[in-house]
Amino acid sequence: MALQQQKTEQQTTVDDLYSENQQLRRQLKAFLTQARSNEQKMRRFQEQELQLIRLNSLVQLINTIIYDYRTAFGLGTVTLTLIDPSYELQHIMEDEGVVLADHPALSFASTGDELDAFYGLTAGPQLGVYQPSQHDFLFSKVKTKPASVALMPLIRYDQLIGSLNLGCVKCERFVEGSATDFLQRLSAVVAICLENAANHERLKRVGLTDFLTGINNRRFFDQRLSEEIMRAQRKESLLGCLLLDIDNFKHVNDTYGHLAGDQVLKEISFLTKQQLRGTDVFARFGGEEFSVLLIDSNSAVTLEIAERIRTAIAALTVTLDDGQKLQITVSIGVSLYTGGEKVSDSFESSEMLVDQADQALYKAKNSGKNRVVFFGDEA
Ligand code: GH3
Ligand code: MG
Ligand code: MG
Repeated sequence: MALQQQKTEQQTTVDDLYSENQQLRRQLKAFLTQARSNEQKMRRFQEQELQLIRLNSLVQLINTIIYDYRTAFGLGTVTLTLIDPSYELQHIMEDEGVVLADHPALSFASTGDELDAFYGLTAGPQLGVYQPSQHDFLFSKVKTKPASVALMPLIRYDQLIGSLNLGCVKCERFVEGSATDFLQRLSAVVAICLENAANHERLKRVGLTDFLTGINNRRFFDQRLSEEIMRAQRKESLLGCLLLDIDNFKHVNDTYGHLAGDQVLKEISFLTKQQLRGTDVFARFGGEEFSVLLIDSNSAVTLEIAERIRTAIAALTVTLDDGQKLQITVSIGVSLYTGGEKVSDSFESSEMLVDQADQALYKAKNSGKNRVVFFGDEA
């Protein structure tokens, strides 16, 4: 009997050990599966990171973030909000030919207030169910709202520069309180890459931009002029050229001071730019003179745009800091590049186009100012 009992006890121990072993095996298998999945996840993240680091064009970088990430991470929506108080990033993207309205996943905030208030002091990723009242400002332009979200502050040098917002149609994808190591790392890399790309674009532009007005400078104009002449020759298209000169500008400086003069230059640049297409070239030619190239234009359109700029400026009232109001006018000389066999050298053609606009401008000044004169026409 004692022997029988001993045998049963031994069997029970073996059974226990066996089931414990089975359980440990199951656990090990689960750990291995989890580890493999984590490894895959990490590899996917690393691949994405490498791709980001390789890019230094701001447009490509943003495209990768808002479009490629959606596919790479199997997400319903990825949006990016960038703080851009001086519209600098928006201008960079527009200059690269991006139509911002075509990209609802990308939005810009003119101050960091709303994002600062949202992330508060924690400044870490926020995961959870999508709450329209709290999260809509990060997904306001996208049609399909997510069910769960992972929202990551983008921070550089302790400064919030934006927010990367991942959205999923599944409620259980992003759960409050889950581990955020991957996401924290991803947001740090995205923030560094964005800043790096923005700096790269700034450097590219600094030698080609006029500091006072923010528009392109003479160097940029000259460069584009020869490119556009060559293009017009190749495509047998026309190229319009305008030279604008502010009337009696010396009087503005002498009467109201240099700062008032600077303000006039800025307002006129802004207003003129508004009258042009994104593809046209607009530059500060020097002092109080501006130049415009109208790509693929003809004489009627070139004259019409010149007249539109002249009237817009004549209708402008510049209000100085002390409340004084100024009316400003400009004179505009217009010329048109029409190609032809005679002038095949693009440098000569460029010089001639500007010189003709300058002669027309001279006529406009001599015949009473505040007018547009086409080269070859009588003023
Ligand atoms: P006109 O109608 O014939 O063009 O006369 P004007 O007084 O506009 O022409 P003028 O060429 O005699 O004067 C241009 C002035 O523009 C002289 C220069 O001091 C001023 N100017 C050039 N660059 C700047 C600038 O960056 N800021 C300011 N405030 N003035 C500038
Ligand atoms: Mg002048
Ligand atoms: Mg002048």
